[in-house]
Amino acid sequence: MSTPRPLLVQRSSPPSPVEPPAAPARGSAGKGRLLVVDDVRENREILSRRFERHGFETREAAGGLEALTLLAREAFDLVLLDMVMPDLSGLEVLAHIRATHSSGALPVIMVTAKSQSSDVVEALQCGANDYITKPVDFSIALVRVITQIDRKRAEEKLTHMNDELSRANEALEGRVAARTRDLALSNEQLRREIEQRERSQAMSEHLAHHDALTGLGNRLLFHAQLSEALAHTRHNPKPLAVLFVDLDGFKGINDSLGHATGDSLLREVAGRLRHAVRDEDKIGRLGGDEFAIIQMGGNQPEDAVALATRLIDVIGARYTIDHHSLVIGASIGIAIANGDCQDATQLLKAADLAMYRAKMDGRGRFRVFEPQFDRQAQERRNLEAALRAAVEEDALEIHYQPFVDLQTGRITGFEALSRWTHPQLGKVPPTTFITLAEEIGLIDTIGERLIKRACADAATWPQDVTVAVNVSAAQFKHWGLVSVVEEALAASGLAPDRLEIEVTESVFLQGSDANCRILDRLSDLGVQISLDDFGTGYSSLSYLRSFSFNKIKIDKSFIRDLSENHNSIAIVRAVCGLANSFGASTTAEGVETSEQLARVRLEGCTTMQGFYFSAPM
Ligand code: C2E
Ligand code: CA
Ligand code: CA
Repeated sequence: MSTPRPLLVQRSSPPSPVEPPAAPARGSAGKGRLLVVDDVRENREILSRRFERHGFETREAAGGLEALTLLAREAFDLVLLDMVMPDLSGLEVLAHIRATHSSGALPVIMVTAKSQSSDVVEALQCGANDYITKPVDFSIALVRVITQIDRKRAEEKLTHMNDELSRANEALEGRVAARTRDLALSNEQLRREIEQRERSQAMSEHLAHHDALTGLGNRLLFHAQLSEALAHTRHNPKPLAVLFVDLDGFKGINDSLGHATGDSLLREVAGRLRHAVRDEDKIGRLGGDEFAIIQMGGNQPEDAVALATRLIDVIGARYTIDHHSLVIGASIGIAIANGDCQDATQLLKAADLAMYRAKMDGRGRFRVFEPQFDRQAQERRNLEAALRAAVEEDALEIHYQPFVDLQTGRITGFEALSRWTHPQLGKVPPTTFITLAEEIGLIDTIGERLIKRACADAATWPQDVTVAVNVSAAQFKHWGLVSVVEEALAASGLAPDRLEIEVTESVFLQGSDANCRILDRLSDLGVQISLDDFGTGYSSLSYLRSFSFNKIKIDKSFIRDLSENHNSIAIVRAVCGLANSFGASTTAEGVETSEQLARVRLEGCTTMQGFYFSAPM
């Protein structure tokens, strides 16, 4: 029986090669899926049956065309291909197969007659994997089929493993790439953190060496800069000056207008300083209202003096801050580096001492350091310590100097004057130790003791004799003065009108409103208020208008001049007339001669005080 030819398939047009179906799934076809191609049905069936018996799955094709159709639709592990068939020859079918399947992917075993050996050679050249001869020796066929399928599977496995490997490789590469990206990200983050740390380190470094308010170097940096500059001048001798700048009147502005205004003012000052110096000069803010400048090179001290003069003008120019029009001054000390003074600490101290002298000389000036400043500063420190000890031991004394009525010649009162005898230096003038006490804050204690003792002493005197005490402007800083006076009067029982308080015009210079209220309060207690040293200060008549004094004391410099200077006579006369018109009395201070006595009596003074009658005792 012959197999009917597949009519649907046209002999002339074999199915076009399409993508080969995927290889049969492993295991589904047992040992393999075979396509047995033979036009002789018997041959096909015998082969198929025997292979099936050995665990293969088989499909049969009765000709070349049918075989190609099946191959296009289904997947096989191997093709057993008859060499001679009526529709397409085995070689033709093989050519078609090899157009789409490699010999590894689909092994083809040619089935030939023994006589067809030349065809076998051609078939092998065209891509057949092996051949078997008819009549088929099945055991040989089986071995060859198994060999081919094993090879195919081994190859597939290899391919599969290769695929797996390359997939694993790809995955690995992906992971490596991801890790590389992660690493790059962490690196970037690390870099940013390091930068941030460096920035904050630089910032804290800057803060440690700079003044946050003005941005100028602080004391630490200034000191380092000065040391460095000095080290440099040692190798390369060049003049170098330090200017120590201290503001005059800053504290008053800071206290009265507030710290915000004070800060703005300091920033302005720093800005002006920056403008005023050369680029190579260094500026530092040493603290509070103290600044310092290192001036490099030039002719010294001429250049430092020129700079100081300019700075006093520049800083003294008017400021407008928070709608306030402000004026401050500057006192400047200059120290020049030279053989004796090579150390930063010494040089800065010298400039500081010179600045202090400039302040003492009346502010708004400069001084160039002189070696004796050092000794004087040491003396001042010693004097300060001795005064503190004296106050501690209550070692100050009071001397009294009488006032004499120029009409009756009677003693009307005594002025209490402080006396201090230094254990080594002897008598220290009150102008020296009172000024020192004002500066170091001892004046309140000294003043309080003086007032209390003077009142207690006066309470033992005849009823019509008064006592006068000197009160400095520094004691007007707070209301404590009023309480001290009240307590002194209460404790001594002295009638208030027997106490005279002597103040100078300086009371009207600082915080005059508050000071006037304190004076009013004292006056309300019944205490007499005298204007001391009249004629020496600003002698503005407006003081006489802002407060009604009970007495005006004409300064001894006018009395001393009375015999030679006609102007002094005129002034004494005018002051007496003026006081008289206000209802105040007058005291002529420092009357030393009978001539002066006659003159002040003639000009209408009420009382006199002076060595002519009695020194303080
Ligand atoms: P002052 O208030 O003008 O005192 C008068 C000064 O003139 C006293 O000097 C007195 O000794 C001196 N004097 C008196 N008569 C004559 C004279 O005929 N000729 C000359 N040349 N001088 C005469 P002293 O005691 O040296 O006091 C100087 C200044 O010290 C005082 O001037 C006063 O301003 C201040 N002072 C003295 N004691 C105190 C005190 O306890 N507290 C305060 N705040 N200041 C005081
Ligand atoms: Ca006095
Ligand atoms: Ca006086």
